[in-house]
Amino acid sequence: MHPTYPNLFRPLDLGFTTLKNRVLMGSMHTGLEEHKDGMKALAAYFAERARGGIGLMVTGGISPNRQGWLIPFGAKLSARSEVAHHRTVTSAVHAEDGKICMQILHAGRYAAHPLLVAPSAIRAHISPFKPWEMSGRLVKATIDDFGTCAALARDAGYDGVEIMGSEGYLINQFIAPRTNKRTDDWGGSFENRMRFPLEVMRRVREKAGKDFIVIFRVSMLDLVEEGSSWEEVEQLALALEAAGATMLNTGIGWHEARIPTIATMVPRGAYAWVTQRLMGKLRIPLITTNRINTPEKAEEILREGYADMVSMARPLLADPYFMKKAEESRAEYINTCIACNQACLDHIFQRKDASCLVNPRACKEGTLSVPPPPATSQKIAVVGAGPAGLSASTELAALGHEVHLFEASNEIGGQFNMAKRIPGKEEFYETLRYFGKMIEKNGVHLHLNTRVDADFLIQQGFQEVVLATGVSPRVPQIEGIEHPKVLSYIDVLLHNKPVGKKVAVIGAGGIGFDVSVFLTDPGHEQAPVEAYREEWGIDAQYRQRGGLMPAVKEQVPREVWLLQRSKGKVGDRLGKTTGWAHRLTLKNRGVRMWSEVQYDKIDDAGLHITVKGQAQVLEVDNIVVCAGQHSLRALQEPLQAVGIPVHLIGGAKEAGELDAKRAIEEGWALAMRAGVFAKN
Ligand code: FAD
Ligand code: NAP
Ligand code: SF4
Repeated sequence: MHPTYPNLFRPLDLGFTTLKNRVLMGSMHTGLEEHKDGMKALAAYFAERARGGIGLMVTGGISPNRQGWLIPFGAKLSARSEVAHHRTVTSAVHAEDGKICMQILHAGRYAAHPLLVAPSAIRAHISPFKPWEMSGRLVKATIDDFGTCAALARDAGYDGVEIMGSEGYLINQFIAPRTNKRTDDWGGSFENRMRFPLEVMRRVREKAGKDFIVIFRVSMLDLVEEGSSWEEVEQLALALEAAGATMLNTGIGWHEARIPTIATMVPRGAYAWVTQRLMGKLRIPLITTNRINTPEKAEEILREGYADMVSMARPLLADPYFMKKAEESRAEYINTCIACNQACLDHIFQRKDASCLVNPRACKEGTLSVPPPPATSQKIAVVGAGPAGLSASTELAALGHEVHLFEASNEIGGQFNMAKRIPGKEEFYETLRYFGKMIEKNGVHLHLNTRVDADFLIQQGFQEVVLATGVSPRVPQIEGIEHPKVLSYIDVLLHNKPVGKKVAVIGAGGIGFDVSVFLTDPGHEQAPVEAYREEWGIDAQYRQRGGLMPAVKEQVPREVWLLQRSKGKVGDRLGKTTGWAHRLTLKNRGVRMWSEVQYDKIDDAGLHITVKGQAQVLEVDNIVVCAGQHSLRALQEPLQAVGIPVHLIGGAKEAGELDAKRAIEEGWALAMRAGVFAKN
């Protein structure tokens, strides 16, 4: 029995095969699936995670036919000729003693191409295309395609398949009255609406054989109107078990739902209660999911009987060795997923390959190698312990250099020390904990409370200097900007300066939004999961279809105006998969978000503005400036003047379009450029 995580490391006997632990790596599209040489890259990606000790992995969605493509020419397995390149993945995983299932996903009306089909011709509001209604003959042919796809997956060496029946994709569209308005055998009564998923399940089992894992991902909580009722979820689960499913996985929320289900503001394990409603009702194992990102949380969920197994996806992108570190009781070394979506989901929506903000190596495993140790260890100064400096210093020290990390303040983290104070962004603390451990492990010499200048660095004889000094806030040229009412975001978030009841926020970028969330936080008394359910209108009693209820109006402590000069929707430049949730949070808290604002002056009366030609005064107690930043790189010139090589990363390099993803990636890439520091 494992001393720290006895439930997490308890093997799971499926009868014909045994999983070594209770973690499933949930399906994640990486973008590599669509590359010409993508299977090689995927093989390296999955092999590393198999080496990391994950019990069972699931691939990104692979379509059983052309209509089911997610995107034009998306990944598909419907012909024998496509089998061979999948073997690249399965053999790489098996060579590392891993197990892998292939997810079969038919996008239905979510497909981003004009061939899309659905049970009824109803367009999803998040999709540009109206689907074609499937004929009875096409429904039957599609069931056959699922079966063929599963049989081909078996031939390709997969240990099983996962049938994607949730998130609002085709199978879910048949189940829910929201999208199924058919009057034939495939629509109407629940018996008819669940005929398609059951026929798919039966055909897959029939074609793939008995000793093959078939996971069915059931949408247990649709979070949309006219979704399934709980009684229907239960009835479907029982019928799927009877039809031959090996395990049921939990699906939460359709893509079109207006409730964030995996973003960082969602509390850890916020949906385990949904799976628990089914526990004890079936004989097959149940898998729970969403915002489980530490071994402690996973162990707690298993121990308290919420599920038989936990699914984690992004946490294993962030750290392929999550399970190995947990097994060795070294959880504090795990590079924790902070649920930002910035490099994984946001990339996929922009049709870019996925990666990870905290682990820039993710999805590049096949193309990268760690540079060899340098011939001579260099004495390197890294100035600034924000995300860029932390990443560069820990990677350079790992390569064998003597690295000194200088930080002016009394703690590492730079701006992350403000980010972690934003309600709902507490996960950012984990990145600092991780880097703190890497500093120790890799032997970085850390000098806190040490603001350095060029003379000091020259005197100390550093051979190379990495400038990661970050940014300073931009002070806009507005008459009265020196008025005592005016605060910077640093005053508010780091120095705890008092803020009045009426506030104008100048600048609606990521920081302006975060400051507005901070200033309007209602400060809940209940447990975080309950508060989250009330805020977003999720009914744990499941009294209505889809599990929705009216959101509870929050008591907001301040009146806030969030302003920008440019045209267009406020918050338009926020992340694709999270921006809408930030906007909705502020809208629900009564924050007025105005664009096309001209700032005229600031005086005792407040902030004088002109909005679309109309002059007015916002009679506010404070004005918080969040108007972007300038780079801080004053040390560059004097160091270069005496011939010391200087490397700029993060905010010090460029303040525009700066975020932590770029800062961490630049620190890492600098260290990975083999030879840069080994020329002497
Ligand atoms: P910084 O984080 O600014 O670090 C620079 C460090 O250098 C500081 O610690 C400073 O004290 C030190 N320093 C400067 N001069 C010297 C000197 N001479 N000697 C010694 N030390 C010195 N980004 C995201 O990607 N996602 C988010 O959700 C997100 N949320 C944010 C929320 C808030 C409230 C804030 C303020 C920022 C947020 N960011 C976010 C932005 C992100 O934190 C920055 O992009 C990132 O911190 C930049 O990293 P950096 O290392 O370049 O600079
Ligand atoms: P930002 O995104 O560049 O936003 C700056 C804001 O200030 C803009 O709204 C801009 O809008 C306004 N502005 C610029 N110059 C101005 C001037 N002279 N006078 C008045 N207003 C001015 O920068 P940020 O909000 O400071 O964020 C910094 C970085 O951190 C960003 O890159 C961001 O991605 C990252 N971050 C990300 C998140 C996240 O959730 N992903 C959260 C926080 C921060 P107008 O020009 O229209 O007025
Ligand atoms: Fe997690 Fe953010 Fe990395 Fe995605 S990019 S895996 S959400 S830390």
